[in-house]
Amino acid sequence: MIAAQHMPDGLLARMKTWRHHLHQRPELGNQEYETADFVAQVLSEAGLDVHRGIGGNGVVGVLRRGSGSKAIGFRAELDGLPIAEDVTHGHRSLHRGRMHACGHDGHMAMLLGGAHLLAVQDGFEGTAVFVFQPDEEQGTGARAMIADDLFGRFPVDAIFAIHNLPGLAAGHFAVRQGPIMASEDNFSLRVIGKGTHAAMPQSGIDAITTAAEIVTALQTIVSRSLDPLTPAVVSVTDFVTDGGRNILPEQVTLTGDVRSYRPEVSRIIETSMRRISESICAAHGATCIMEYSREFSATCNTRAEAIFVQKVAESVVGAGLVDGDCSPLMASDDFGLFLERRPGAYCFLGNGDSAPLHNPSYAFNDGILETGALFWANLAKAHLQ
Ligand SMILES: [Zn+2]
Ligand SMILES: [Zn+2]
Repeated sequence: MIAAQHMPDGLLARMKTWRHHLHQRPELGNQEYETADFVAQVLSEAGLDVHRGIGGNGVVGVLRRGSGSKAIGFRAELDGLPIAEDVTHGHRSLHRGRMHACGHDGHMAMLLGGAHLLAVQDGFEGTAVFVFQPDEEQGTGARAMIADDLFGRFPVDAIFAIHNLPGLAAGHFAVRQGPIMASEDNFSLRVIGKGTHAAMPQSGIDAITTAAEIVTALQTIVSRSLDPLTPAVVSVTDFVTDGGRNILPEQVTLTGDVRSYRPEVSRIIETSMRRISESICAAHGATCIMEYSREFSATCNTRAEAIFVQKVAESVVGAGLVDGDCSPLMASDDFGLFLERRPGAYCFLGNGDSAPLHNPSYAFNDGILETGALFWANLAKAHLQ
């Protein structure tokens, strides 16, 4: 494994400037116009071939050396969040109600730094592909880039991503083989009864008591239909009726969210949910319309690539700061969709003791920018040497 490099003079300062520029101008998913312009500009300053408009606002920078056929891909995200920032630092958001509260500004700065770092080095042969995807937060960006033939136009042997993680010590890496982020499914269940006067329930079919039974019974999916060692969450998050003070409703709509790590678990949950709700509705003479959608795939690291990330991270920060078997998170990232098409790995880089992701007081830690850029450049060189 090659040793960590040092940053060329001035590059770290430029990365901070890029990060702060991006932080002040957050744009929501699929509206990342100025962000994409900026990223494209900084990539071309490094001498990369820049390709725009892939899957919407997606940007791809390509760095080629020699005639080697190996290729490696890296992903960062362009989008911010609809959160009103609550911080006092000088580079706070200029866009009211929008904020880089997930640290995607830091991810972009680290990957741009990695591109600049790699562009001035030699000792490798092949292609490095820098992917900046739109709309990670709503989960449409990776899908759109793949549909726009990302991997046909820019074939890579494997693809990698870093996400910063508050609560993990600054500059520490965490990775694991297999699932590291969960899938997210959404559901909506419409229970249709027969509305009636609250004082004459015998004339109707009570959608409320029927739906309430369903809410309780859905809790048995995780506890009774899944292996106790299989993590999953089934949450009913909303219960809306068209009833009133003295009106038993005609309908109840339940909506909710499901997390798990494997497609077969997601299928068991959907099948169980249909069986439970249709059976309970039938028992009470009600009917049920269920919609179930898969919003995010689980992010599952392939074994060899997770080990590769661990080794390269150890070469950058030292073995003591790298956890190669971290706990997975129940949150989701649409990078999982890339990993359904290509081998690869997603890892965490500690952001230190900051406010959590998606919190108005969250702040990306500039102290980890250098580590991220060195990691990217070293990962590329190790694959392409
Ligand atoms: Zn996020
Ligand atoms: Zn994020």
